[in-house]
Amino acid sequence: MTDEEPDVPVYCSECGTTTRIPLSELADSVEQHNQQMHDGEAVAQVDPDVAEQLQDIVAKDLDLL
Ligand SMILES: [Zn+2]
Repeated sequence: MTDEEPDVPVYCSECGTTTRIPLSELADSVEQHNQQMHDGEAVAQVDPDVAEQLQDIVAKDLDLL
């Protein structure tokens, strides 16, 4: 087991970009992008497929299962 954080791909449909962001910075980075680029609209989001996997990872990490 490692302490390395997973990078999470965040897709922005308006910018047409996918950015990989470390899990610990995810919420801040997404919010910042949306604030700066999209007037606070939640345009940039974690890829839904990945979000599902991520929940598994995070749940295991936090020992919730
Ligand atoms: Zn954007």
